[in-house]
Amino acid sequence: MKDKIWLSSPHMGHMEQVFVKEAFDTNWVAPLGPHVDGFEQDLARYTGAKHAAVLTSGTAAIHLALILLGVERGDEVICQSFTFSASANPIVYQGATPVFVDSERDTWNMCPQHLEQAIKDRLSKGKKVKAIIPVHLYGMPAKMQEIQTIATQYNIPIIEDAAEALGSSYQGKACGTFGELGVLSFNGNKIITTSGGGALIGNNEKQIIQARFLATQARDAAPHYQHSHIGYNYRMSNISAGIGRGQMIVLPNRVAQRRANFEWYRSQLSKAGFDFQPEASSSFSNRWLTALTIDPKETGYDREALRLALEKENIESRPLWKPMHMQPIFKEAPYYGEGIAEDLFDKGLCLPSGSNLKEDDLLRVKEVVSQLTSG
Ligand SMILES: *Cc1c(COP(=O)(O)O)cnc(C)c1O
Repeated sequence: MKDKIWLSSPHMGHMEQVFVKEAFDTNWVAPLGPHVDGFEQDLARYTGAKHAAVLTSGTAAIHLALILLGVERGDEVICQSFTFSASANPIVYQGATPVFVDSERDTWNMCPQHLEQAIKDRLSKGKKVKAIIPVHLYGMPAKMQEIQTIATQYNIPIIEDAAEALGSSYQGKACGTFGELGVLSFNGNKIITTSGGGALIGNNEKQIIQARFLATQARDAAPHYQHSHIGYNYRMSNISAGIGRGQMIVLPNRVAQRRANFEWYRSQLSKAGFDFQPEASSSFSNRWLTALTIDPKETGYDREALRLALEKENIESRPLWKPMHMQPIFKEAPYYGEGIAEDLFDKGLCLPSGSNLKEDDLLRVKEVVSQLTSG
């Protein structure tokens, strides 16, 4: 059996172990310490957000963002349907109801028209829409200008799920800095990783300080353990943050390599029926994953046939995210759309996209596609 080619695997640079060793040598082996502060500063500097709080996961960051915006039982939160479940699950942690909105074809992200339709309809039913969660899927910026205009008009804050989009920008500004709060993830498969971790970023210092407070069990200032809020254990460890600091050094290379993978696939696999995720001229995607749709009417085979053919060669690929409104757990949730996310899910596949792929790996993918086409 040939070596496994992963969809997206961790890719360490040279400094991660140095920072981790420093944490050991100074005994900062705790969910606080100089790397935690340093990583937060690195993220703020890189994204242009004024403040950052590093946490145990991107999911924790979304959860804290909802708490900071006062989302409670009985409220509603509008969320892009075409995403990973972690965008929506924290809405339910708060006892609130997710309302799902379809994607549009230009970016595959939240459709502004359906967003506005959803807001109008929910408000007309007397519901309290407390936040909007657009997602930059596979690193592709959503139509933030249109989404922001609508959010401002109805005075609803945006939580920007940029978990897949560190290194992406829209109209020259980093993804994650458009909403009132932005969310990043450093899970093992993301463009950079701390093995597991996430961050909440924003410009309002009070909110980020409050996020750090809630993430460390909400201890009031007192010599004894005194609590006037429900707390969480969501703070990132100094060890993980050390990995993060090392990864920040190589992030620009990782973005360049992922974009190079994308360009390689697009030029080498170009054919009728293969449509790669589009990028608008005002957008810059980190191309976290190379994603395309396969039209079986043109190719003679569907995305599942390609996925299985790749799997036979020990190559991991994956269908696009299954929309949340199609998930058994969310089948009761309201949905506004016209089936675009469903169609993308039907036809879409993510190809191996790690920044550590070798040309031989890419050629193995190409070979499978060629065989399928000629067979
Ligand atoms: C990975 C991811 C998350 C969750 O991040 P974790 O760090 O894994 O908790 C949230 N939203 C999207 C779109 C993601 O891809």
